[in-house]
Amino acid sequence: MNVTLIPGDGIGPSITEATLRLLAAVGAGIVWDRQLAGMAAVQAHGNPLPETTLDSIRRTKLALKGPLETASGKGFRSINVALRKEFDLFANVRPAKSVLPGLRFDGVDIVIVRENTEGLYIGIENYIKIGDDEQAAAQSIAVVTRYGAERIHRYAFEYAVKHGRKMVTLVHKANILKYSQGLFLDVGRVIAKEYAGTMAYEEKIVDACAMELVMRPERFDVIVTTNLFGDILSDLTSGLVGGLGLTPGANIGKDAAIFEAVHGTAPDIVGKGIANPTALMLAACLLLEHAGEPECAARVKGAIEATLREKKTVTRDVGGTATTDQYTATVIARL
Ligand code: NAD
Repeated sequence: MNVTLIPGDGIGPSITEATLRLLAAVGAGIVWDRQLAGMAAVQAHGNPLPETTLDSIRRTKLALKGPLETASGKGFRSINVALRKEFDLFANVRPAKSVLPGLRFDGVDIVIVRENTEGLYIGIENYIKIGDDEQAAAQSIAVVTRYGAERIHRYAFEYAVKHGRKMVTLVHKANILKYSQGLFLDVGRVIAKEYAGTMAYEEKIVDACAMELVMRPERFDVIVTTNLFGDILSDLTSGLVGGLGLTPGANIGKDAAIFEAVHGTAPDIVGKGIANPTALMLAACLLLEHAGEPECAARVKGAIEATLREKKTVTRDVGGTATTDQYTATVIARL
């Protein structure tokens, strides 16, 4: 299997190397095509998203990607968003499951299915000049299309059926944003009817949903929502199961898929050797499942979960003292 590898910025290269060690140990048989994106690509090629990287993904149709730095409010636009647009990776699937002992909640097993190409992240933004002030006002436009809403809702229901899930919760803010969120909700209701009798369905307004997620997270199963809400709620669900070091994400399109951690470049811990590689390792498991290698994925996931459950050799972010290397070696020994 050929897979494009983008190590990424910040802690990206170190968690990528840890993940490659694990995949080599399990004999996943992946041939990696190493490419650059983000700050590393700017330094090497003067371009955050080189054509060679795009060509590689066009060829392999599969990528494992470390986090990429995006400066807030200035600099180049997010390369993550650009990749999602380029390959029309419309579904962002982010599972969060409680495995670590001693968490505030047991039994959390939530999958957020986030619409990944539309909404407020579509990139239609501008300043409005008033008098002499060039930036007197700013606007960002949210775009929801019937086409985009239909395919993400259908994806969420199909995912739920395929994975033996019990309920889909549609999360929205249609009470205030009556057009964009209203369309998302209306389309969701139509799709939900098609699955009536097969899949339980409910609707929640995003603010109430956020409250309920921290009060009774175990009652949620699959959540389908728009881009911004999915971005925020998936960090929230990461927090419920032990933090950003643990949660993977899959960006799925018709012709390509890119797998990554939910977290970013973690600038505060770069170079310290303490980054938790679990999220990227679990992203690699999602890649293996997607590529039709579920047994291999299950072995890797089993070794990770056993190591976390034992909680003897785990990294600092989840309450241990192990380095990235020590944790990786323990997971490999568990295989
Ligand atoms: P972050 O996720 O990088 O870090 C938030 C906190 O979580 C930090 O304290 C960090 O140390 C900790 N953390 C994250 N991953 C960890 C890991 N694997 N092990 C241990 N601790 C971990 O979020 P941020 O600081 O808001 O963003 C930093 C940069 O990352 C920004 O440029 C942002 O745009 C980018 N980012 C990229 C992606 C992506 O590539 N998909 C996602 C989110 C943020």
